[in-house]
Amino acid sequence: MLELMNLSKRYKQFYAVKNMNMYIEKGEIVGLLGPNGAGKSTAISMLSTLIDPTEGDVFFKKKSVLKNPTPLRKVTGVVPQEIALYQDLTAEENLYFFGRIYQMSGSNLKQKIDEVLKLIGLADRRKDVVKKFSGGMRRRLNIGVALLHDPEFLIMDEPTVGIDPQSRNYILETVKRLNEEKGLTILYTSHYMEEVEYLCDRIYIMDRGNLIAVGTKDEIKEILSSEHTIYIEAEILNKTFIKALDDEPTIKELVTKNETVTIIVPKEINVFQLITKLASEAKVELKSVNVKTPTLEDVFLHLTGRALRD
Ligand code: ADP
Ligand code: MG
Repeated sequence: MLELMNLSKRYKQFYAVKNMNMYIEKGEIVGLLGPNGAGKSTAISMLSTLIDPTEGDVFFKKKSVLKNPTPLRKVTGVVPQEIALYQDLTAEENLYFFGRIYQMSGSNLKQKIDEVLKLIGLADRRKDVVKKFSGGMRRRLNIGVALLHDPEFLIMDEPTVGIDPQSRNYILETVKRLNEEKGLTILYTSHYMEEVEYLCDRIYIMDRGNLIAVGTKDEIKEILSSEHTIYIEAEILNKTFIKALDDEPTIKELVTKNETVTIIVPKEINVFQLITKLASEAKVELKSVNVKTPTLEDVFLHLTGRALRD
């Protein structure tokens, strides 16, 4: 349905997005995963025709979007990263205002507003002004705005950042339902790998303007098939131990967090013996050493040497 071909955005000498290739089939939920600054919003802005690419093009149903953005715009709903709502208007008034911008009116608009309010769980708050809403409710209303004109394709830019867990779950469930029940095609952007793992059929992982992995969850995790991710828990970690692990040539990647260390090692290494030895030399008391099922986070660590959540 949609194809991004060699899409780049350059600001002076700096590529915010470089040579991006991506396709989205009708009915899919595609995930775009990457840390802050990866280039996700820039890619989305080009895809939703808000900014022009420096190079490359987007093709919608095989036709150039640069040449004619209208067909894609008509069927696309965009949930921007920054909330765009009028604080002094009620939920209903906001929807009415944006509906008018989409050139909707009369009973059709009224009916759509009712439907959307129900969908985002704000039907009973329709008469309240937005400034009284919690962060999660604003997010939900922001999503509602993008759904008013019955889009076929929904782009969501980090829709769950900075909100309470309940609203977050509500949003994730709503996204899933929209896809399953209405067949909505969705591009879901996030820096939370567990969201993307939960929602998406196919995943693109992005870092510093480049796509660094593409595939289904299983295909991406297959990148780690010849390696183990090991999770080490200690009573108290010390620098000697961390340094010993870091200096150990068979250990490929290492991330520490509180009193735990995550490392990636080739499968053939007898890692338990090695860790026990290094711990005892550094006088570190181990609580546990476990092999983890790899997550997308581990794949990211493997590919970049950094944790996804900095
Ligand atoms: P993400 O959404 O993944 O956090 P962005 O697409 O917002 O990342 O940003 C990618 C990179 O491009 C960042 O380093 C950001 O500072 C830079 N960038 C984004 N927009 C502009 C702009 N208008 N001018 C210059 N640099 C920009
Ligand atoms: Mg962004």
